Amino acid sequence: MTSTIQRLESEVRSYCRSFPTVFTKAEGSVLHDAKGTQYIDFFAGAGSLNYGHNEPHLRDALVAYLQASGITHGLDMATEAKIAFLETFERLVLKPRDLDMKVMFPGPTGTNAVEAAIKLARKVTGRNNVVAFTNAFHGMTLGSLALTGNAGKRHGAGVALHDVNRLPFDGYMGDDVDTLDYVETVLADPSSGIDAPAAFIVETVQGEGGVNVASGPWLRRLAKLAKLHDALLIIDDIQVGCGRTGEFFSFEKLGVSPDIVCLSKSISGYGLPFALTLFKPELDQWSPGEHNGTFRGNNLAFVTAQVALERYWADDALSRAVADKAAYASERLAELANRHDAKARGRGLIQGLAFDEDPSIADRATALAFERGLIIETSGAHGEVIKLLPPLTIERTHLERGLDILTESVQLASQGRAAASTTRFTAGSEQAVLNQAVES
Ligand SMILES: *Cc1c(COP(=O)(O)O)cnc(C)c1O
Repeated sequence: MTSTIQRLESEVRSYCRSFPTVFTKAEGSVLHDAKGTQYIDFFAGAGSLNYGHNEPHLRDALVAYLQASGITHGLDMATEAKIAFLETFERLVLKPRDLDMKVMFPGPTGTNAVEAAIKLARKVTGRNNVVAFTNAFHGMTLGSLALTGNAGKRHGAGVALHDVNRLPFDGYMGDDVDTLDYVETVLADPSSGIDAPAAFIVETVQGEGGVNVASGPWLRRLAKLAKLHDALLIIDDIQVGCGRTGEFFSFEKLGVSPDIVCLSKSISGYGLPFALTLFKPELDQWSPGEHNGTFRGNNLAFVTAQVALERYWADDALSRAVADKAAYASERLAELANRHDAKARGRGLIQGLAFDEDPSIADRATALAFERGLIIETSGAHGEVIKLLPPLTIERTHLERGLDILTESVQLASQGRAAASTTRFTAGSEQAVLNQAVES
């Protein structure tokens, strides 16, 4: 079944190991495989499918555009689709939030948006180093990888990753320590060895890093520190933007106004490659073509993004629905955490269940969940956090059913704790799932 993939696709493949089946189609929050099994999706393309798979309004617009021979590729030439997207983005996203920002199309992926952000910050400030935080994830190309915390991913670089200072994220030293006391101290000391940076780059909720939530006060203090040291504040909203936390941007209710914002994943609304780097107008010091790329104008993504904004961001219905579903999900996770010596945390519809004592529970539970028809991933430094990331539009019944499957899977995985101590599961390996199938 998956033998073609095993034979031909590089060992670097990953998610097809975590979810070893052949998918055929998907609608909303349900995926189908070749055997006719249905899976509830609590992964949503790592946050790229906030409005679900094949959202019909977006699909209709896309099909109509293609049928009418609309421009698919045009470098960054002016197209009707680009203008329609920009006007809608201004009207429904920027204006209502009083955000005066220029829009840059940095290339189609999240890491492109981050590379452009730090390149611009370095250019504008004339400084080299950028502060990134512990457990951060900002992408896999060299500049972004230097900002990423994960050791395994960093080691893949094969070259020195430099011009980044790593400082502790909110809560990194435990609940009683404000890590910005340390940051403030080292930045105030000319002999600390940490120079004033070009920028601080931060996720308001660390998705890959284990659903670590930065508090409003911590982020506001960070913004103040950045200002004090003439450094820019970059918010990487690639995973938790586009409504994931309830509001369009994850920072809008937190009282911080970043200088630069990175968006990707769900901005096309349809799972198409698309990324934006937004910045305050005075930072727009690029000369024409100074940052370039062949695929910076994904017109198909312009079309779906524009319809997604019209459909979901013309009023606050989606935000309210996210708040309702988030309240329900966090209640269910709190119960689970209570029963299994875990910690529940999150914001909006990014929620985590952390098994700090025995990270293998998270791994086993997600494998068991897959066998029971639920797609859900782990995150965190040790893969110890089960990360709930459903489409924001998920039907209540699917959310409930998915949480039922998760509850059962965590139960079984916890019971298997003693037996499994001899079989250490490797995160996301095909073998892990096979072992599990044999055991259960
Ligand atoms: C996924 C992600 C990226 C990288 O996006 P790619 O499209 O995979 O390059 C960067 N930052 C955050 C916070 C992400 O979640």
